[in-house]
This record gives sequence, C-alpha cells and structure tokens, in this order.
Amino acid sequence: MLLSLIFLFAFSALAEETSDAWFCLNCSFEASGDICEICGQVRDYWRCASCGTSNLSPVCGNCGKSKDESLKLQAADSDLYKAYPAVRILAAAGDSASQYRLGKYYEKGIIVSQDTDKALSCFRRAGNAGNQDAWIYLGRLYDAGARVEQNYSMAMEYYQKALQLGSAEACWYIGSFYEEGSGVEQDYKMALDYYRMAADRGDADAWMSIAYCYLCGYGVPEDHTAALGYYEKAAESGSASACDYLGYLYMSGSLVTQDTEKGLSWYRKAAELGNARSMYALGYAYQSGQGVEANIDEALRWYEKAALAGSRNAYVVWKTFR
Ligand SMILES: [Zn+2]
Ligand SMILES: [Zn+2]
Repeated sequence: MLLSLIFLFAFSALAEETSDAWFCLNCSFEASGDICEICGQVRDYWRCASCGTSNLSPVCGNCGKSKDESLKLQAADSDLYKAYPAVRILAAAGDSASQYRLGKYYEKGIIVSQDTDKALSCFRRAGNAGNQDAWIYLGRLYDAGARVEQNYSMAMEYYQKALQLGSAEACWYIGSFYEEGSGVEQDYKMALDYYRMAADRGDADAWMSIAYCYLCGYGVPEDHTAALGYYEKAAESGSASACDYLGYLYMSGSLVTQDTEKGLSWYRKAAELGNARSMYALGYAYQSGQGVEANIDEALRWYEKAALAGSRNAYVVWKTFR
C-alpha cells in the first residue's frame, strides 16, 4: 500500500514536470518549450478574432478585445476548422460550451480522429459544468442509439439532468417518452404535464404536442376545437412547424373549413421562419395552381429554396424540371 502510494506520488510529480505541453494557436500543434516546433510561432501568440491583429499581450493592441473574449468569438465560428484551436484551449480551461463543442469534434471525427469514448466524456464534463445542451445531446444519442447502444433509461437519466438545469427541451423529450412508453410505462397524463411544462418554459413546439394530445384524446377528452387553438398558440409563439401544419390544415380542409388563401398565408409564414416543407408546399401550389395562378418559374424558385433548406423531395422535383 505504502509502496504504491510512493509510486503514485513519484508518477504524478513526473507528470507535472513534463506537462509543459501547450497548444499552438497558429497551427494547432501540441508544442513544448517557448517556440512551436512545427510553425515557429511563440507560445503566447494569438490572433484577434475581432480585428485580425496578431498579439502576445492578453489584450488586443488594436481593438482592445481580451484574449478570452476573442477565443470565445473564435470558438463559436461556424467554420469548424477555424473554431477548433479556440475550442481546444477553452475546453481545457473548463469552459463548458467549449467542452460540449469539443465532444462533437470527437464524435464526428472532425480534425481529430473519431473517438466516441472521448466524445462522451467531453459531453459529460460539459453537462457537469452546467451545460444543458450537452445533457440533451447525450440523451438524444442514447435515445436514437447513435454511436452508442440504444438505451432509453440512460437517455431518460440525461434528459432529467438537463431538466434539473431548467431545460425546456428536456421537458419535451421526457414528455415524449411518456407518450410513447419509451423506457417508462406509457402515461398520457404525465406526457401532457411535461409538454405543458416545456411550453411554459418557452418551447413553442411543445404547444403542438399539447394540441396533438387534444386531437387524439391522450390524457384529456378528445377536443378538436381545443386542439386547433393550441396549434394556433404554437404558431403565435413562433413555431415554424405549427405554421406549416396550419397551412396543411387549411389547404386540405381537415379540422377546419378549407380555405386556400389562409393555407397559403400560413405556408408563407412558415417559409419565412425557414420551414422547408412549407417552401415545398408553396412550390407545389404554384406548380398546380392551387389557390394561386399556376406559375412554373415561381414554383421552381420555391422548390430551389426548399431544397437549399434541406428538403430532399424538393431537390428531386427541382432536378426533374431543369
Ligand atoms: Zn505552431
Ligand atoms: Zn483586435
């Protein structure tokens, strides 16, 4: 026992001595000493993400931005290659948003080698440091069985952790587990309670799930008027899917009296919010002259927009017209 303690001590002292490695912000190399062995840049080098000035001091000599602020800006860059060095450094310094981001690099194998274990440990570290998104993401991985074996009770555990941090999204996921009976006994009343909690916490899409419960009579008596009211509430709260669905209801005359003018106006609203399905539906309306004068050029414009927003169907139709 004593011997192993001595070994442990000796080893940790050694580890401390040799942990002079630092991460080069110029070339992303794990360097040591004062000069990066790969690119020759000095250890304190950083480039201001705001104005592009190279600096050694912790405050940008040109615009006055601090190194830390600059790194946070760089870490949030949508260019994952540009963001990576900042993500690495901030994650090591304990920034939870960066630990969550670093997890995604490992999960997908971007820049670093794909490593699910490392990804999971980054997500857990981020979650433990108070990052709700990391717990939700872990929950979704176990929920879908992506990268890990599907495990509903693990997923539920992670959603609960996000819930404890106040996540509205977590309420919705837990509600959906009760609605579908995933890992828990199916319980529509519980599902509805969680959906309401999610809606109260600002999740606009949760109103749609509440509407669906009223539509099907899950946990409440079936009530189509109430359902329609909740779909409208979802739309008013900014849910693009709700606007799209209302478009569909008015175009098809289900739940409501058919009204193509109203239907198209909901589709336009949803399209403005970025809903690809509604863009596709608008393309179809212009192609077939449904509620508007047929106009193939306008149809193609909508199909193209829809395809760019992620609609595979729209892409197929757009290609056949070209
Ligand atoms: Zn370097
Ligand atoms: Zn600057």
